[in-house]
Amino acid sequence: MIRRVARWAVAVLVLGSVGGRSSRAEPPAPGEGPWIRVNQVGYLPDDPKVAVLSGPEALAGTFRVGDFTAEIGPDQGAWGPFAHNYRLDFSAVRGPGRFRVRFGEVESAEFAVGPDAYAAVPDALLRFMQLQRCGDDPIAGEPKCHLQDAIDVTTGEKVDLVGGWHDAADRLKHMITTSYCVAALKLVGHEGAQAEARHGAPLIRKLHPRPDVIYVQVGDDRDHLPPATLWHDDRSDYGWGPGGPRSAWPATGAPEGPKFQNASTGKASLAARCAAASALNGDVEAARSMYRLAKASPGVAMSVPVRAPHYYGESTYLDDMEWGAVELYRATREPEYLADALAYADRAGDDAAWMGRDAHGHYEFFPYVNLGHWRLFEFADEAARARLAGYYRAGLERVRDRALKNPYRVGTPVVWCSTNDVIAFATQAALYEEMTGDASFRGLAAEARDWIFGRNPWGVSFVIGVPEGGVASSRPHHMFHRLAGRTPVGGLVDGPVTRAINESLKFSAFEGDPLAPFQSDFAVYHDEYADFSTNEPIIDGTVSLLLLLDAWR
Ligand SMILES: [Zn+2]
Repeated sequence: MIRRVARWAVAVLVLGSVGGRSSRAEPPAPGEGPWIRVNQVGYLPDDPKVAVLSGPEALAGTFRVGDFTAEIGPDQGAWGPFAHNYRLDFSAVRGPGRFRVRFGEVESAEFAVGPDAYAAVPDALLRFMQLQRCGDDPIAGEPKCHLQDAIDVTTGEKVDLVGGWHDAADRLKHMITTSYCVAALKLVGHEGAQAEARHGAPLIRKLHPRPDVIYVQVGDDRDHLPPATLWHDDRSDYGWGPGGPRSAWPATGAPEGPKFQNASTGKASLAARCAAASALNGDVEAARSMYRLAKASPGVAMSVPVRAPHYYGESTYLDDMEWGAVELYRATREPEYLADALAYADRAGDDAAWMGRDAHGHYEFFPYVNLGHWRLFEFADEAARARLAGYYRAGLERVRDRALKNPYRVGTPVVWCSTNDVIAFATQAALYEEMTGDASFRGLAAEARDWIFGRNPWGVSFVIGVPEGGVASSRPHHMFHRLAGRTPVGGLVDGPVTRAINESLKFSAFEGDPLAPFQSDFAVYHDEYADFSTNEPIIDGTVSLLLLLDAWR
């Protein structure tokens, strides 16, 4: 990750077999396919359900799921690593029960069908967020980390910025993602999510100690210098001694950084998102002040590079203004906030320009879904509602046009953190359906969700350790795996990137990739500690998946 530099990467030579591969009695031998890919968590009764049968040879015949049988249907042609692909529709299976898809001697991983298929997933995702907590670690216990956060690098003043979450495998804290996580957690109807939002809320308040100040980052890429350690052993030296206080970077509204500079143009993206989070937290006065700051400083606030020229390059702030305004309206019912929200909504419009592209910049559009449109919808008049729905629909249509060209129905960019893109498409489709009743994207959204949980060329769930007993990311780029021998269950990993991106990164080599038959120019994924580009868990994506599962009805 731009924020995640390769210096932690070391070779991992522990190479178990990847379980879950299909076996068959006749050639081709086990390991040579074909394979049946399914969502290993499973399906709700009404969900569209499509497994993908892929392999090196043309196939024909029937498949079965429990008592249900059907033809495997037409060959979808060559794609990715496979010469032949078939889409096995078993939507008629409504459960409840546990099933496998079977074709001859080949069988898929086991999965659930039923109303409770996802019951265990939100708690797992939240356990990962708890593991990421800074200054209060209920899983790793004492000693608590980073209680000296932080010193303002521009004034030398000590400021209390204890709390929040470590961003990923590293130990620094990005307020770009933290602000989103708090706000999005508040929108999830799950008590554990509310508890996690309460953990993050105090830090959001502390980011804004004065009317003109908002902090964008705590710590920086000096975090990535060796040695890699667990949170509480962090000996990084920010100029105040090893293990001393960390740097607090206020957003300046202009390009920022002591050597390399980001391309910041304002404070609004951050301040308005913090306003949304604060309003949702019931901290209305802070929200008002943050929103005023956002209006006074239009533009985007980016993360601050110190040692290397990499940063979160968010390009949009109108979506954040809309979100901040609508949450303030919901909290206060003051009409000027509603008027602002409607105005920003139309200025933001169909701002998800990443939808329909092959690639985009790193966190160029953040959040990946403009949640403001959804939050505003019920307060808009008929004409404005039509526009809001239309903005969502336009992006969904662009992804659909791409997705329909391949058998796995993946239509989102295969860039760094591609799981964010996949989840965002499914979420936007679910919210669009909630707003309009139009279910025309439901099938593709289900297939996007399925991609996350293992219905992908590798047959691996991109949520660490989920489902329990399934074939899921198990050797993530994370210090708790590397140094403590603990699996950070519930973390959503970055997921596949194109081979070109993967090969451009200088992570340490490893040997004997058990997923080698499933790598292609289209996409590469390694369940290896060394590959920080595809197998590092991230807090914002994990929260986005929570939101998707909550929106999925
Ligand atoms: Zn910490």
